[in-house]
Amino acid sequence: MLTVKDVVELSGSQLLQGDPEAMVEFVHFDSRQLEDHSLFVALTGGARDGHQFIDDAIEKGAASVLVSQDDPQLRQTHQGVSFIFNEDTRSAFQALATGYRKRLSLPVVAVTGSNGKTTTKDMIAHLLSAKFKVYKTYKNFNNDLGVPLSLLHIKKHHELAVLELGMNKAGEIDFLARMAQPNISVITNVGDAHIQFFGLREKIAEAKGELLPHTDPDGFVILNGDDPLVLSQAPRYPGKVYTYSIRKEADIYATNITFSEHGSFFDLHVDGQSVSCFMPMFGEHNISNLLPAAFIAYRSGINLETLQQTMMSISISDMRFQTMAGPNGSILINDAYNASPTSMKVAIDTFEHIYPGRKKVVVLGDIFELGEQSDKLHTEVGQYIKDKRLTVITVGDKSSLISKAAGGTHVSTHEEAIEVLKPYLTPEHVILLKASRGMKLEKIIESLTP
Ligand code: ATP
Ligand code: MG
Repeated sequence: MLTVKDVVELSGSQLLQGDPEAMVEFVHFDSRQLEDHSLFVALTGGARDGHQFIDDAIEKGAASVLVSQDDPQLRQTHQGVSFIFNEDTRSAFQALATGYRKRLSLPVVAVTGSNGKTTTKDMIAHLLSAKFKVYKTYKNFNNDLGVPLSLLHIKKHHELAVLELGMNKAGEIDFLARMAQPNISVITNVGDAHIQFFGLREKIAEAKGELLPHTDPDGFVILNGDDPLVLSQAPRYPGKVYTYSIRKEADIYATNITFSEHGSFFDLHVDGQSVSCFMPMFGEHNISNLLPAAFIAYRSGINLETLQQTMMSISISDMRFQTMAGPNGSILINDAYNASPTSMKVAIDTFEHIYPGRKKVVVLGDIFELGEQSDKLHTEVGQYIKDKRLTVITVGDKSSLISKAAGGTHVSTHEEAIEVLKPYLTPEHVILLKASRGMKLEKIIESLTP
């Protein structure tokens, strides 16, 4: 969909050598991902200088390269390859994605929020796939490199794209949304993730709200009606704002939520119609994540019967409340992908509602990036679970405060945690494991289930 000439023009760069009419099929900055007819972008400023990988990239099929250092000898060696020059390859890559997006006529859906972005993005893509050829953000590529990379991978045959936009600081969503130019936007919630960089939650809300002024006013925005901080951003969008809720009536909402070992049951209400649903995922938070997806699908012409069917085949990503058989008839629930204080409480709420016949054990680890509030927030998690019928084991450092408040057992290492867990590996028990990514609690599960 792009020629070398297009790349040069859209990114404001200079063609040093090569055929301007040559086709560029894919764009990558990681030489390991390269395919034939790719453009390789040599990025600098990271752990390694991308210019070191140019030979490798060309060998893997790069037909053009974008560089910020001109090496005439290297060009001489690869005479068939187009060399494009820009002093700042990162900005050039982002400008290329912005220009490319402007040329695309397909609708783009953007998802941001503190928790549940990837889940919501995957659900939107899944439900819309019933009718459309959908492109979605690869894995979790939601930052200033991941978003342009995602945009540049949208192809002619795609009818709709769903992108995840992430942030750590104010201004980042503004930057990403300017690039993505969404037609439909979703804000899932304003939690306490990354609070160390922010301070007030109102400030986090404002930062997520940066998405709204960049959304096409002829499209629409759908906001979590259960989160007042999300709703506070509504006035920033001049077009139509819809809401979703698992607590009350809204443009789309769920009632009668119950859980079984296999997933969640609920009634879905939209546009004066209702339908009973089942989804093989757990937790109220996941029903909340599903609602904007169902709304967008419904508004795109997918009827409720089809939605009901499609929901049944939603798949659970690894390490997100993933249930598995543990040793000696025990059940393990791997939710070790990540954690914030909010998501830890949410996971424990869900855990309380499933496997009613089993005794419950939680293995909780440290939650990172909480800054000055870290001690307070860990203690709060402990207080939150104190009176629940749970055996609490914590592992790491800060999580000792959870044990202290909840009356649990604290250990420092995975090995010790495995020892403490042993008496609970029985057919009577179910064990939930959750912590920040860096705690790698999945290693405990790998040791228990070789
Ligand atoms: P990241 O910032 O790492 O990209 P994300 O926003 O994409 O995260 P997901 O990957 O969808 O979020 O979910 C991560 C974890 O957050 C889940 O395992 C779950 O524990 C929790 N979570 C998901 N959705 C919600 C929600 N709506 N409210 C609270 N917690 C949630
Ligand atoms: Mg994500």
